[in-house]
Amino acid sequence: MDKSFQKIRNDFPILNQRINNEPLVYLDNAATSQKPNQVINELVRYYQNDNANTRRSVHTLGERATEEFEIARKKVQVFLNAKDSREIIFTKGTTDSLNLIASTYGEENIQAGDEIVISYMEHHSNLIPWQQLALRKNAVLKYIGLTKDGQLDMEDARRKITDRTKLVSITHVSNVLGVTNDVKKLAIIAHSHNAVIIADGAQAVANIPVDLQDLNVDFYAFSGHKMMGPMGIGVLYGKYDLLKSMSPNQYGGEMIDSVKKYHSTWADVPFKFEAGTQNVAGVIGLSKAIDYLNDIGMKNISKYENELVKYILPKLLKIEGLTVYGPQDTKNHNAVISFNLNGIHPHDVATALDMDGVAVRAGHHCAQPLMNYLGVTATVRASFYIYNNQFDADQLIKAIYDTKEFFNV
Ligand code: PMP
Repeated sequence: MDKSFQKIRNDFPILNQRINNEPLVYLDNAATSQKPNQVINELVRYYQNDNANTRRSVHTLGERATEEFEIARKKVQVFLNAKDSREIIFTKGTTDSLNLIASTYGEENIQAGDEIVISYMEHHSNLIPWQQLALRKNAVLKYIGLTKDGQLDMEDARRKITDRTKLVSITHVSNVLGVTNDVKKLAIIAHSHNAVIIADGAQAVANIPVDLQDLNVDFYAFSGHKMMGPMGIGVLYGKYDLLKSMSPNQYGGEMIDSVKKYHSTWADVPFKFEAGTQNVAGVIGLSKAIDYLNDIGMKNISKYENELVKYILPKLLKIEGLTVYGPQDTKNHNAVISFNLNGIHPHDVATALDMDGVAVRAGHHCAQPLMNYLGVTATVRASFYIYNNQFDADQLIKAIYDTKEFFNV
């Protein structure tokens, strides 16, 4: 790793504080990541020097903002190894991207009796758009099951994806179980049945290298805020020909070719899908976040996080009365670990951990069907990032023992 851990840590001043008299241990990265100074300063720089609307004004600031916006698009393309920068559409985030596909591609291509295949481990934002589309169209929504240890059941995937399947949408990395799904294999299966495949990359892009040409998915969605970028910015990747064939999702400024009184024509991809004033600062902040991640290297990030999992998972599994959901080994385990403590409600666990300065999330993690599948209503989730270390892991373990003692279990 080029940057030493302390150097990385110093880039995140927010982490340098005490909560309830204990050092802050931020383990809620699957909800949102913290932002390095480089990203924060870039937002200030943009607003202090270059702020203007894009693709409208010929003055210097307008040109600068437009140029930076398009440089960012290219940067996202290269970061994900997409074929063409026109395949990168800026959105508000993963939820926005997935809804865009459902309301355009889905609306235009799904018919009564068609099948849509998702899995039991989907975040609501990769579930409800398809559920509602299926209801609107009288289509059939099917769920791929999980194996006992919380991996996607690939045999069930082969059974569920058939010639009736028109669309498959699967999370790349689970935000609850921490598993990485074999999206590349799923793409081969989906394409062999002439179905399109979408991957929800919200939990993946921040933590593992993603190569879109290698995965060969048709669409890919993610958010900037989970990868050190600002909130309110995200990306929809789509293969150019597919995007070209789709109708716009919104109408308004800068998405048109020409507007007549009773008829309009649309700009080419990607602008057709970027109606109205864009989140220019968000895009520029995301671009800086990509620089930051590239500087460390995505391979290094995923390796570092896996080392943390190797360190903490066995310690968690040793705690009496603690159940880990998902794989119990470290092989296919990203640094997201969901667990429960026997006899204590997950919300009480999270509140007690906060008393020790440890920030985790408790709840259904926007994955209620998964909770039902696991037979629980909620879990505690600890999610690590590149600025967490063994000290943070130890603090979590210590806080869990404190919690058990406090609740006398
Ligand atoms: N999918 C997954 C796997 C996620 O982890 C998240 C965010 N927690 C989302 C979708 C939704 O992302 P956003 O709220 O940024 O739109």
